[in-house]
Amino acid sequence: MTAQIIDGKAFAAEIRAKVAENVSTLKSKYAVTPGLAVVIVGEDPASTIYVNSKIKQTVEVGMKSFHFALPDTISEADLVAKVKELNVDNRVNGILVQLPLPKHIKEAAVIEAIAPEKDVDGFHVINSGLLATGGKGMVPCTPLGCLLMLQDTLGDMSGKKAVVIGRSNIVGKPMAQLLLQENCTVTLAHSRTKDLASEVKQADIVVAAVGVSELVKGDWVKDGATVIDVGMNRIAAPERGEGKVRLTGDVAFDEVIEKAAYITPVPGGVGPMTIACLLRNTVTAACRQASIEEIEL
Ligand code: NAD
Repeated sequence: MTAQIIDGKAFAAEIRAKVAENVSTLKSKYAVTPGLAVVIVGEDPASTIYVNSKIKQTVEVGMKSFHFALPDTISEADLVAKVKELNVDNRVNGILVQLPLPKHIKEAAVIEAIAPEKDVDGFHVINSGLLATGGKGMVPCTPLGCLLMLQDTLGDMSGKKAVVIGRSNIVGKPMAQLLLQENCTVTLAHSRTKDLASEVKQADIVVAAVGVSELVKGDWVKDGATVIDVGMNRIAAPERGEGKVRLTGDVAFDEVIEKAAYITPVPGGVGPMTIACLLRNTVTAACRQASIEEIEL
């Protein structure tokens, strides 16, 4: 069997088009323009690229974008004060503080300062709690993107066996919660899991969010499984020239494509979905804050 590739880039473009349509309706029918505030501390090159991409896409879908570039010498108290200022700014529906933060700042303290209804990254403990208890919170963007691709590809997932590899608060754990809500039987595997290969072998759905290049091998995967690769690993690529790197996932794509029914590529799979879901979450936040229920996301 050769798997069908799930085109995250095309799907993300569809989500952005839907977001743009919703933003247009919110403006014309309700005089609401959703606004997203992005806060970046310091000048980490990777974070700067992500933030610029988020700002560009926010503007492209017709939303207001607020950008705050703060020096890496800022104190935790001043950063928290900035977040609290945005919490009460009516033009801002979503707040995103780009991680990682400098070492002298406790990330948890900053995330907990964000008003949960404006926490479009879905990292606040209130939102994690709502997700765990089946409530209506904000869902973290990367696992939400994975879920939307799975729903679109598989439809009803009830009774399927899902294995999520990786138990981080931003990907693995919320992903497991979302699959549980889809009535999957979920195994959450991690670095201490014994015999990961045999766990994966039983799965109808595999989500790999590990950060280890090409960890999931072809012979680990059951015939006909659906494989979502969250990993983004930069590895040396001397064949491309000295000092060059290439992006790989956590799945050995060339092997697994011969076993799976569906697979996401890296790049072009989960990555583009993450920012699209950030924009979608900002619309969700704006609708909830204005008590608008009839917008279909
Ligand atoms: P993390 O480092 O916080 O967590 C990694 C998890 O993998 C841990 O729970 C650990 O227990 C587990 N793990 C590590 N080695 C393992 C092994 N050998 N076997 C089984 N489990 C193992 O990482 P994260 O933030 O969850 O990110 C995971 C990957 O996803 C990274 O490559 C990251 O770059 C990528 N990522 C991509 C996106 C995107 O938009 N595409 C978003 C977030 C993260």
